[in-house]
Amino acid sequence: MTRLFASDLHLDPGRPDITTQFLDFLDGPAREAGALYLLGDLFEAWLGDDSPGTLGETVMAALASLSASGVGLFIMQGNRDFLLGEDFCRRAGGTLLTDPTLVTIGPQRVLLTHGDALCTGDAGYQRLRSLLRDPEVQRAFLALPVDRRRVLAAEARAGSRAHLAGADEYVTDVSPEAVERVLQQAGVSLLLHGHTHRPAVHRWRVAGRDCTRIVLGDWHRQGSVLRWDETGYELLELPRT
Ligand code: MN
Repeated sequence: MTRLFASDLHLDPGRPDITTQFLDFLDGPAREAGALYLLGDLFEAWLGDDSPGTLGETVMAALASLSASGVGLFIMQGNRDFLLGEDFCRRAGGTLLTDPTLVTIGPQRVLLTHGDALCTGDAGYQRLRSLLRDPEVQRAFLALPVDRRRVLAAEARAGSRAHLAGADEYVTDVSPEAVERVLQQAGVSLLLHGHTHRPAVHRWRVAGRDCTRIVLGDWHRQGSVLRWDETGYELLELPRT
């Protein structure tokens, strides 16, 4: 079975080129796969499953059509769309994955995660992350009128941009210690994540174990997909035409 993995599409009404490429992908190459995994930040912002907006409705319908054609669909939240929930996944015909999730692909056990939890060098971000993952904070946010949610989300994105502009590059990447810890806790040697927008396959050896960390790319300038079939995996760039 062919599995496709993507993350960090950051779909946004202001970037119709990304949406078009993703919808073409769902309607084309994704149909040939057995399963599609979306590992977070499908949307640049998500105000709640009760207010998907036109873009959210369009993407949900395209995903529902893909899953109805027999392709397994698995969706993980990212740090931008952490409010993407069961309702969206149900309507898209997909399964919401907890972060992290362990999957078995052929003989390999692979740990899937969005990746932001691994950026432990960024203490300010990790504090914000704990706050935003608090169910009570989320309930309070979702109880606000949609217009108010939109304002708060825009303020949060502006704050995030300012924070990242002032941060060193190593701080916004995953920390090697955090990677070791999650691999050890899960008892696996292969990690697949997105979030950092630094597509690569990293290999290293620790305590006699060969470890691999595959990083998915973002869709800002082109598409990025990991294709994994019986012959192995390959990180692909999809040119934007
Ligand atoms: Mn992210």
